[in-house]
Amino acid sequence: MMKVFICPECGGITTVSRRKEINCHKCGGIKMIPSKLTFAQYSEMDEQQRKDYSDSWLYIRNKMNNQDSK
Ligand SMILES: [Zn+2]
Repeated sequence: MMKVFICPECGGITTVSRRKEINCHKCGGIKMIPSKLTFAQYSEMDEQQRKDYSDSWLYIRNKMNNQDSK
């Protein structure tokens, strides 16, 4: 069972099997977060859709973080 992980820093998406924790190889040491995408959904997306997904994911995440700090 593959899982889809997303990096909270750069929005990079990666898929892994079995591993529970994964660090972003671009950001070095940043722990990636399991996304709500299933592997089936992810594999049906093209490059642009993946980018759009990570952009909006980052946007929502940053928005929520900003609200928390107020
Ligand atoms: Zn990253």
